[in-house]
Amino acid sequence: MNSNTLILGGGVTGLAAGFASGFPVLEAASFPGGICSSYYLSPNVSERLSIPLASQENYHFEIGGGHWIFGGDASILRMLRSLTSVKQYQRKSSVYFRERNLYVPYPLQNNLRYLPDLRSQALHEMSRTKSDFSTWQEWQIQYFGETLSELFFEPFHQLYTAGLHKSIAPQDAYKSPIDLAQVIQGAFDNNVQPAGYNATFVYPESSLNMLAQQLASRADVKYGQKVVKIDLCDRVIYCENGEIYPYRHIIATLPLNRLLELTGLEVTAPPDPYTSVLVLNLGAVRGSSCPDDHWLYNPDARSGFHRVGFYSNVDRNFLPQSSRISGRLVSIYVERAYQGGVRPNPTEIDIYTKQVIAELQEWGYIEAVEVADPTWIDVAYTWSWPNSHWRSQSLKALEEHDIYPVGRYGRWIFQGIADSLRDGLFVGVSFKEQ
Ligand SMILES: Cc1cc2nc3c(=O)[nH]c(=O)nc-3n(C[C@H](O)[C@H](O)[C@H](O)COP(=O)(O)OP(=O)(O)OC[C@H]3O[C@@H](n4cnc5c(N)ncnc54)[C@H](O)[C@@H]3O)c2cc1C
Repeated sequence: MNSNTLILGGGVTGLAAGFASGFPVLEAASFPGGICSSYYLSPNVSERLSIPLASQENYHFEIGGGHWIFGGDASILRMLRSLTSVKQYQRKSSVYFRERNLYVPYPLQNNLRYLPDLRSQALHEMSRTKSDFSTWQEWQIQYFGETLSELFFEPFHQLYTAGLHKSIAPQDAYKSPIDLAQVIQGAFDNNVQPAGYNATFVYPESSLNMLAQQLASRADVKYGQKVVKIDLCDRVIYCENGEIYPYRHIIATLPLNRLLELTGLEVTAPPDPYTSVLVLNLGAVRGSSCPDDHWLYNPDARSGFHRVGFYSNVDRNFLPQSSRISGRLVSIYVERAYQGGVRPNPTEIDIYTKQVIAELQEWGYIEAVEVADPTWIDVAYTWSWPNSHWRSQSLKALEEHDIYPVGRYGRWIFQGIADSLRDGLFVGVSFKEQ
């Protein structure tokens, strides 16, 4: 096989690049979509199903937990709608303080009326002049103050970054917007405008799989092609199954650290860190205290998760058919972060699963559990050390060898599906035109 340009990875970024350019996409798995993949589980069937049962008596889960499509400009949303029909939702999410049994709508800082005992001190601290900061933890104290940090931001970020927030650079501040006018209004008044990057979101009417399949059906995807080595001198890609692909250019969506390993390239800066996420999908009888939120941010869960989401609160179509009207069941995803390279073994995952179930039962969110299914996402969130040059050195070294990293993991940035699609489309079109 001979091709000028090859695309590595058939997640949404690589699929969008393949769709826009027509270049072959090498994908390790036997299905498209990468982390954007739905599957189905039934209490009566022991394995994951890639399509729903004819009876639809199954839970609809996603391997990476609820993947709601937020942001995206009008053209990306238009393109999405041309591939699959989508429904739009208004976000409903809260911070849940278990110890106080208190739900505060997201974002916390815009809803200080729920914390009357801390409100004036928190307002005073947030309105102070900011000084310099280097780490995420320093940024958090500068912007949210000691009171809110101690209450929420410190314990939450400890869980969300697996403790890295003490040493990494702050990132993605837009996820916790601070607009003092809104903060003050929300301290006293119920009439608060939704804030943040995901106040509305869309989701395909059938499943996320449909989006990936629609893109894949318009691209040249070669499945089962796990790349194990990229020979920069001979310009050849080696796959685990023995296939060999010559190339002139590579558009690569694999994580930047893995791309360096595959090519053998080295840079002088110490590698930036990442966190992995263990996603636990649960299908259960709905408990009497289960909230209506789409997801919750959890600073004090005993079993160590930082977010619990409710697929079936977004849409009851995620439930087995027979309980969609009654809402007798609930489907949930629970996320826990680990520092990169620290992977729990199957026994530890089993113990953790039991702990989560016991905790959610104690909270009254669930009763009997019908299905419990964990997935390990190895490189889930990417971070940087303060003033790090690792990312820029790595991108430059790869680009000097005609390898162009793209997307959330290739470029080592935070982005959602809509931005991944846009980046994939853009790089696909620009390479095709060359
Ligand atoms: C826990 C979590 C929750 C998220 N929630 C949301 C959300 O609610 N909304 C949202 O918009 N975004 C969300 N995101 C982000 C979203 O998942 C990404 O923006 C998007 O999926 C990135 O797609 P990608 O194609 O770049 O990467 P991936 O989906 O990781 O695709 C990479 C592909 O490369 C393949 N691959 C890997 N190694 C090799 C190899 N050696 N050879 C060949 N192929 C290989 C993989 O199999 C995979 O298919 C979330 C991410 C995480 C981790």
